[in-house]
Amino acid sequence: MIVDEEAAKVVKLIFEKYLEGYGTMQIADYLSKQKIPIPSDYNKKKRGTKSISYGLWQQSTVRFILSNEIYTGTVIQGKRKKISFKSKKFINLPEEDWIRVENMHEAIINKEDFERAKKIINNTKGSRIVQNNYLFKGLLRCYDCKGYIGIRSPDKNGNIYGRCQRYGRFGKFNVCSPHNFNYQVFEKQMLEVLRKICKQYTNKKRLEEIAKQTTAKQAKEFNLKNQIETFKQEIEKQTRKLEIMYDDRLQGIITLDEYLKNANRIKEAVKIYEQNIKELEKEISEKSNKKINENRLDNLIEEFLSMKKPTKEIIREFIEKIEIHSDKQVDIYFNFKPLQDLNNNFICARKSYEKKVG
Ligand SMILES: [Zn+2]
Repeated sequence: MIVDEEAAKVVKLIFEKYLEGYGTMQIADYLSKQKIPIPSDYNKKKRGTKSISYGLWQQSTVRFILSNEIYTGTVIQGKRKKISFKSKKFINLPEEDWIRVENMHEAIINKEDFERAKKIINNTKGSRIVQNNYLFKGLLRCYDCKGYIGIRSPDKNGNIYGRCQRYGRFGKFNVCSPHNFNYQVFEKQMLEVLRKICKQYTNKKRLEEIAKQTTAKQAKEFNLKNQIETFKQEIEKQTRKLEIMYDDRLQGIITLDEYLKNANRIKEAVKIYEQNIKELEKEISEKSNKKINENRLDNLIEEFLSMKKPTKEIIREFIEKIEIHSDKQVDIYFNFKPLQDLNNNFICARKSYEKKVG
């Protein structure tokens, strides 16, 4: 293997910048600005295929280069093996089983630098996973510009802050304002508020159930179905009348004029009955839909209250979005109307959040 001088220069530059403390994104942007061809373009050019425009560098390409041991002169074999002698499928093997042959070719990067870069990559990998686990990530919005609230990596004291992303990128052009807040305090308070609202919901529900022990509600639904039945019978009666009239007309018992007048009247009446039935059926189906929705909410609340540490998924089922004001006031938008109604009465919860955060 012969070292390609041009490619080697780029690889060296990437390692150099990374060890100086630049992030993979910054390096990718730097390379793009310098109009350095991305590896696939570069290979195309070498193979003689013309590539008209050079692509932009991706963070993942930079990361791939930084973690490729080949630049230290080591060749790795046996990263994967065939499942069986006959099979064409491969499986990935664990790193400790790889076969490393050192000093196979001239090194571009010395082993020490490579190990240092590897350490930094592994560290940032860890923090990325934690970041993705923030319970309310993706639900937070800026009240003023309606953009996303970004959650930043922990600072040196371990504090995590949320901030309007639009302000973060374009604040220097006077767009929006910081909307800065301590995410950890926010999360704790928000879970307390959610629990309070859920408990209030179950209490209210219990009281309602005691109150409606009378069968008034059931009676009403029975009434709706009864009414539909009466209308259906009425339609049948009118249709039969029309048939008799038609016979009478055929036998000359009534005049054509009389027949048309009565037939039209009957057809009008049937139309009105049919319309009434449609409306009642709609009312019944709306009621049963509401019931299904309520059952879903009941189950969700039961699950949430039983969890010590709620999951992101369950939070997402409850909440559509959360808007943060510049004075740190918080507006919760629930996916369920009963919770939204309770939330509006829940001024004390919002106040306690303001007190602790503001
Ligand atoms: Zn904003």
